[in-house]
Amino acid sequence: MEPTFSPSLMSLDPLYVAEEMKILNKYCHMLHMDVMDGHFAKNLAIPPYFVKAVRKVTSLPIECHLMVERPNEFIVDSMMDSGADIISLHAETISVDAYRTLNKIKASGKKFGVVLCPATPLSFIESYIGQVDYLTVMTVDIGYSGQKFIPQMLEKVAAAYELREKYGWHYRIQADGNVGKAVYKPLWEAGADTFVMGSASMFLKGNTLEENALLMHEDFFAQTGVRAKINE
Ligand code: MG
Repeated sequence: MEPTFSPSLMSLDPLYVAEEMKILNKYCHMLHMDVMDGHFAKNLAIPPYFVKAVRKVTSLPIECHLMVERPNEFIVDSMMDSGADIISLHAETISVDAYRTLNKIKASGKKFGVVLCPATPLSFIESYIGQVDYLTVMTVDIGYSGQKFIPQMLEKVAAAYELREKYGWHYRIQADGNVGKAVYKPLWEAGADTFVMGSASMFLKGNTLEENALLMHEDFFAQTGVRAKINE
C-alpha cells in the first residue's frame, strides 16, 4: 500500500485555515479531524461546522476520529452530513452496538474506522475486524498532542498487519500519536501505511507549514526508502 499522510487539523491556525489547506491539499493524502467531547477525551475539539467548511476547500478524504463517550446518531450523522468520508470510532465506545454502528456507516456509503487506545488489545475487535476499513492504533493515550510515542504499539501494528495478510482483509493500518521522523521506519516496517501527522511532523514549531511538508516527505523517504505522492 502507498504511504498516506493524514495531517491532524486540530493543529491548523484557525485564522488561516483556507491558506493552510492549500499546503495540505498538495502534500497530504487524507485529513484527520479529532473530535473530542471533554469526557472520553478530556480536551474539546472539532465540531461539524468545521468539517463542512473544510469540505469546500479540499477533495482529500476526510476522516473524523470520534473521541466521544457516546458516539450517538446525532454525532455520527452530523459528521457524515458535513462531508466526512471515514467515521472512526473507538472500539471502547461501541462494544454494545458495534454491528449496528458499522452497518449504518457503511450503508451511508462511508468508510468505517475503528480506533484502539494503547491499552486496548487487538483481540477486543476480533469479531468484526474483517469489516473494518481503517484500523487505527493509538500510539499515545488520547487527548493531547506532544506525548511520547509508546514503542509497544509497534507489536500491535505488526499483529494487525499479519492478521490482514493471513485472512485477506482490506483495512488500512493507521498510527495516531506523536508520529514523526523518529518512528517512520519502525512503523512502516511493522505494517502501518497511514500516518496521522501532528506536532511531531507536519506541525513542528519554528518552520512554515510548507517547510514542514517538505521535511516530512524527505524524512519519510530517508527513513523508509519509499516516496509518498505529492499532488500537483
Ligand atoms: Mg486522532
